[in-house]
Amino acid sequence: MPRKSADISPALRNKLIAAAKRVRFNAFAPYSRYYVGSAVLGGSGRIHAGVNVESPSLISHVCAERNAIFSAITQGEREILAVATVCTSSVSCGSCRQMIREFARGDIPIFAVYHDVERGTERMVRTTIGRLLPESHTGDKFDWKKRTQQDAADPKPPRRRAK
Ligand SMILES: [Zn+2]
Repeated sequence: MPRKSADISPALRNKLIAAAKRVRFNAFAPYSRYYVGSAVLGGSGRIHAGVNVESPSLISHVCAERNAIFSAITQGEREILAVATVCTSSVSCGSCRQMIREFARGDIPIFAVYHDVERGTERMVRTTIGRLLPESHTGDKFDWKKRTQQDAADPKPPRRRAK
């Protein structure tokens, strides 16, 4: 049955934000010193966290949101119901927005928490991935959901047919 609302309870929101905060300073950010923690609520109800990981090549950098999503996918999730990100001052980058939208409906909540540890300030912005990435390019347009349902019913990797 489709969910009526993409919103989540305040208690679950707080749990999601706490999970992002817990991992934030595990980030590997020796170059930018910009520490980000993220947590996603998977369709199973489980929370998966991630941090940003940098590299001196810069182009190999992976953001906290994508690492949280990759962890969720690794654990078998195929749907994201909410995202929390904790950092000093910004909302998810374009690459992360696209990756979130790949696994989420447009109306899922995104909680961006700006937490400045040195100043002791904290502010939360609630938005949706649809607002952050309108007219997005999604897997729905390529029958992705149908294939995912088939994968869920038969999770074995595809095999080559014998000739
Ligand atoms: Zn990003």
